[in-house]
Amino acid sequence: MSDQIVTRFAPSPTGHLHLGHAYAALFAEAAARETGGRFLLRIEDIDGSRARPEFEQAILEDLTWLGLSWETPVRRQSDHLADYRKALERLRDLEIVYPCFCTRAEIRSEIARSPSAPQGPDGPLYPGICKNLGESERARRQVEGASFALRLNVEKALLTLGEQAGHIFWNEADSDAQPVNASLHGDVVIARKDIPTSYHLAVTVDDALQGITLVTRGLDLKPATHIHRLLQELLQLPPPRYHHHRLIADEAGQRLATRDKAKSLRTLRDQGMTPEDVRRAVGIPVK
Ligand code: GLU
Repeated sequence: MSDQIVTRFAPSPTGHLHLGHAYAALFAEAAARETGGRFLLRIEDIDGSRARPEFEQAILEDLTWLGLSWETPVRRQSDHLADYRKALERLRDLEIVYPCFCTRAEIRSEIARSPSAPQGPDGPLYPGICKNLGESERARRQVEGASFALRLNVEKALLTLGEQAGHIFWNEADSDAQPVNASLHGDVVIARKDIPTSYHLAVTVDDALQGITLVTRGLDLKPATHIHRLLQELLQLPPPRYHHHRLIADEAGQRLATRDKAKSLRTLRDQGMTPEDVRRAVGIPVK
């Protein structure tokens, strides 16, 4: 039935899950189960320098301990690079991507030179150093073997969409339709130097391929939806609905984050917390 919704929990195996992840996973599962729908798990492991198989294994164990179950096989992004490559080809065919040879240091120093550099949700926007390189210069650098990322030329992307560009929205739970500001993040990287995708492209492609009808995730990722909706329009993928939920904070009111060594679920479990206690702690009804 079309009103049976399909949700997913999409952790990155770069550390152990904490209460914030538990909330996101339980929230997604509850949203699907309420409608007799489907709950999927996706392992977002395209960051080869940080993703580790032992964390993936720990994620499966922790979610099972929490009482969750999901369909198999689990989609692991690093197994599906061909899908992202295909999407990338379509964007290349539209001539709306360009190679970016910049190092982080080059971008930083260019931004430092222009104090009025426009800001996005994650800091200053890419200052466009490689945007206007001539074709022969691009070819020369590639022949020389310089590594490059691919960036979306948002200006050209909007021109490609024409009229439609000003009418992109997303459907956010308990809210009015959200108008897309496609330029919010500037010319984002859609394929990193080491891999034919980026977070934005992989999420967009996967949500469509997996038939996700409701994306649930933390409010911290709400700004990313502007790019995901733009990519969906460019790739002609069906837009899901979105529900960006609150973030779980620690006793000091700070948002939990893996890098801050927030107490992991396994530590809490070892200290005697039960799956029911976790549900109560994050405000998800105990089954
Ligand atoms: N992998 C992302 C994270 O762990 C979540 C991506 C998403 O839900 O869109 O933060």
